Amino acid sequence: MRLILLGPPGSGKGTQAKLLAERLKVVHIGTGDILREAVRQGTAAGKMAAPYVVSGKLVPDSLVNEVITEQFRREDRPDCFVMDGYPRTLAQAAAFDQVLRQQFLDIEAVMLLLVRDDEIVRRLTGRLSCPKCKTTYHVLKNPPRVPGRCDNDGTELIQRPDDKEDVVRERLRVYRANTEELIPHYREQGQLREVDEEGSIEQVYANIQKALKG
Ligand code: AMP
Repeated sequence: MRLILLGPPGSGKGTQAKLLAERLKVVHIGTGDILREAVRQGTAAGKMAAPYVVSGKLVPDSLVNEVITEQFRREDRPDCFVMDGYPRTLAQAAAFDQVLRQQFLDIEAVMLLLVRDDEIVRRLTGRLSCPKCKTTYHVLKNPPRVPGRCDNDGTELIQRPDDKEDVVRERLRVYRANTEELIPHYREQGQLREVDEEGSIEQVYANIQKALKG
């Protein structure tokens, strides 16, 4: 199975991608996670990406495309995968189409996760993440068992700097300005499926399964 998850920040792409990867045994490719890790490690790519990631702006296409192309050119390139947060612009979609063609891979579907703006702001500003295992929580909706500590490994949870309200609003603006253009692009290719993102994590997972069969 090869999927792209599309949707605004906070639409649950990361959570659903993680579940899909665990349950369907596919590789989760999250460019946000990859870039944050590069920033944390202080690599050359991380140093270039850092100012964009922190302020909620898009990292230049050339850099993100290189990160993805490199993954797909490796000998152990993923055969089945779920893309979370990539592509995010038409230029990235064109570059990704080319990478897939070169590798003789095609995408089964592009899942568009639908969620209201006010719900996005509520979700993201209450989100806490584990820097170690990347599990996410919500202070009200999905709190950890011990406040401020990850259920899996006890690591102290953090708020992503880009989950502060002003940066969340900037990320939403960037989504509308750049990423929404991908909706007609994938609709024209007959790959787009719309998924209602309201409800529990399991309900949304079931909606994705239904959309895949439909
Ligand atoms: P995410 O975790 O997907 O919300 O991504 C966090 C941040 O990483 C974004 O606000 C961007 O700064 C950067 N980023 C992630 N994926 C991309 C991408 N495909 N293109 C450009 N920037 C990206």
